[in-house]
Amino acid sequence: MKLPYREAVEAICGANRIMLAAHVNPDGDTLGCVLALTHALRLLGKEAVPFSAHGVPDIYDWMPGASWVQTACEHHDFDLAIICDAGAVNRIGSAVAPAAESARTLINIDHHVSDGLFGDIQIVDQRSAATAELVYHLLRSLQAACHHHLLTNEVAVCLMTGIITDTGSFRFLNVTPHTFSLAAHLQRLGADPAPIAEQVFENRSFAALQLMGLAITKMSISADGQIAWSAISFDDFQRLGAVDADTEGIVSNLRSIKGVKLGILFREVKPGTVRISLRSREGCDVTKIARVFGGGGHKLASGCSVEGTLDDAVGKVVAEATRQVS
Ligand code: 5GP
Ligand code: MN
Repeated sequence: MKLPYREAVEAICGANRIMLAAHVNPDGDTLGCVLALTHALRLLGKEAVPFSAHGVPDIYDWMPGASWVQTACEHHDFDLAIICDAGAVNRIGSAVAPAAESARTLINIDHHVSDGLFGDIQIVDQRSAATAELVYHLLRSLQAACHHHLLTNEVAVCLMTGIITDTGSFRFLNVTPHTFSLAAHLQRLGADPAPIAEQVFENRSFAALQLMGLAITKMSISADGQIAWSAISFDDFQRLGAVDADTEGIVSNLRSIKGVKLGILFREVKPGTVRISLRSREGCDVTKIARVFGGGGHKLASGCSVEGTLDDAVGKVVAEATRQVS
């Protein structure tokens, strides 16, 4: 067993009260990892509590164990905290981070491009398509060490959700032969990809589709055709009855235009705060743009937030993107 896995297995075996934490604006990978670990740790008789500061978006509320998720943590007496899919501790949100930082041991499981690694034990590999791949390996190691069956159907469904969402249904550059072998094993364990994909991608609200239409109608493209962007105002969200989670999929549509290297979606999540999603094709590293504005992520998928008006945010970020792309 490789070192960080052995250390993580030892830390888990020696702990009783364990918290699992997802990143803010949670996606299928972070939630899949947190819930898979919660199921497995409870099977081992541990007191395991999953946290997601921003709760569980509707498209993921069917996931096994979703109802266990808590949004804030006042207790500071955890033996162990495991943070999944977050490049920095503050990415789990201020309602959960202090509890994680005060746990006796902190395990960081992640695949983001990260400046400084945090945690006493780090299972971090940027080459993994999803953090769910790393959690799968950890659970196999734990299963072997504890002689206890942990890769149950529920666990497999959670991990498969992470892999399907973070690979864009096995289409992105992060997919490796290893991703397929692992997914094949999860399917054999009962995690069929079709119902998961249907829940996540074919179960959208009317408002979400209207929002997609609006974003596409409003999109702009740079003179050289390399950058496409669109901006959704707080007023647009309110008028359509849409929420931030409904923006899923819009930014990849912007990038899908022929010749476009970089897609950017701006949305005013509340007056004065603009969240930005960046998606690029190979050859354009968007972490470099996101970091200029205090954000981060992956080379081809990053995000950041900017304070100010929507117009200001568009002006500043498009200018920086233009500098970097040209
Ligand atoms: P999304 O555009 O889907 O919200 O995020 C794309 C990727 O960038 C995800 O991996 C997400 O974790 C990361 N990301 C999004 N916003 C931020 C941010 O404000 N800070 C950092 N460090 N990463 C972010
Ligand atoms: Mn991920």
